[in-house]
Amino acid sequence: MEPDRWQRQYRETVDELEKRERHWRDTEELLRRIASRLCIAARGQHETLDASLTQVLGALRRPAEPGPLETLLGQLTQAVTVLDQKDAPPATTAVVPARSAVAATQSAPVPALPAVTTPAAVMPPPSPALTQMLQRLLDRLSALPGAGDRARELLGKLGDPQPTHESLASVAIQVADLADAQAQTLHREKAEADRLLRMFNERLEDIVEHLRGDTEERASALAEGHAFGQQLLSETEALYANTRDAADLASLQSQVYRRLTAIDQRVRDYRVREEARVQTHRERNEALRSRIEELENQTQTLMHSVRKLERKASRDGLTGVPNRAAYDERVAAELLAWKRDQRPRSIAAFDVDHFKHINDQYGHTAGDKVLQVLAKQLGRRLRDNDFLARYGGEEFVMLLDDVTPSRALAVTDKLRQTVEKLGFHFRQMPVSITVSCGVTGFRDNDTPQSLFERADQALYQAKNSGRNRCCISP
Ligand code: GH3
Ligand code: MG
Ligand code: MG
Repeated sequence: MEPDRWQRQYRETVDELEKRERHWRDTEELLRRIASRLCIAARGQHETLDASLTQVLGALRRPAEPGPLETLLGQLTQAVTVLDQKDAPPATTAVVPARSAVAATQSAPVPALPAVTTPAAVMPPPSPALTQMLQRLLDRLSALPGAGDRARELLGKLGDPQPTHESLASVAIQVADLADAQAQTLHREKAEADRLLRMFNERLEDIVEHLRGDTEERASALAEGHAFGQQLLSETEALYANTRDAADLASLQSQVYRRLTAIDQRVRDYRVREEARVQTHRERNEALRSRIEELENQTQTLMHSVRKLERKASRDGLTGVPNRAAYDERVAAELLAWKRDQRPRSIAAFDVDHFKHINDQYGHTAGDKVLQVLAKQLGRRLRDNDFLARYGGEEFVMLLDDVTPSRALAVTDKLRQTVEKLGFHFRQMPVSITVSCGVTGFRDNDTPQSLFERADQALYQAKNSGRNRCCISP
């Protein structure tokens, strides 16, 4: 039994969960900012929409409450619907939010304000940077098992080549909801792990307490045994003295008889006490055994949830290969190992060519399938010490152990050719997939950043020189 080890694991698990919680808080904050900017950017088209946007902006400044946000989303959608109807009715016909929506937010119906003179056509289109920011956030969300499907669905909604402010605002709110739901799931998981670990600690303390009691009991049994021995010794010595000093046989007999009776009584008393002690001991041992059994069961449950959390934290939900966080950890470890043993190591960055086009032409689900097939293909020839991760979006990164950069180029070029010849089909339609790849070797004073940047530059070169090729950094 090593309580220290468990306590350490407990602290590490809690640290990890808190790290993830912080990550989600940051993401939530970023989403709030994006949503706020989108709301500001979308203003000035219609007074009903403006009123809804003002309410959304207000809600975004307060802690996330999914109920009211959902209601506001309903209002916003209604306001957008009015805009969508060509020749939207003039200002005086303001849209009244659904009755349930009004009741839920406790807010008055949106008032009819004077018409806004800025026509929708004058509004500049939303900046592509907003779409990209939302895509990046959704990429991060899609790596989580619980959020993957929904995140990919939202990524699909971002595929529109000419998004409107309203469609982006609507997606941003849905992204915020998704992030909020993830944060809540995380909170629940943390509470459950906390509960289990606390229970586990209590059991450990019980056992330590029991063992302490057991030691004390042994010490007292030893002291009593010692006292019993002393009593017997003094009775025997007294018996010797009586025998030596006896004047006649009759008095000797009576003295011996008295002493022997006393010794007999002491032995009986001692045996009774010992039997009671043995019985107590047996009962305590039985209790200890069942506590240990209980502890073992809890350990199993705990290990199971720790393993589940670990898997969740380090795997990409869509492709099943390690995710970016796992890559960050691995590359740091590989760089350390490389500094020690100087064995050649290489890194390869893969990126699907014209992936946006695949999504646009065949749909997001087809794009997802491509990523799954690709991850499988790239992982197929890996050796035990090699490593493949989904770096993000449609990019994969590979670490090749004991492989020089020129050898890595040959290996990755073979993989590239395999991908090219895949003959991928989606709903009976042939889909052409190619990848570009950048390769480089580990070098002195490399950091994870410098190493990846070199591979990325080589990848950039492969893209620039026509795609579907592998390049090596100079
Ligand atoms: P290039 O050849 O220059 O790499 O062009 P590209 O179209 O592949 O690159 P770009 O960065 O313009 O587009 C990448 C697209 O990948 C945009 C994004 O929506 C999509 N994407 C990112 N993650 C996922 C995902 O998990 N599933 C799907 N289906 N698409 C994704
Ligand atoms: Mg890319
Ligand atoms: Mg690409």
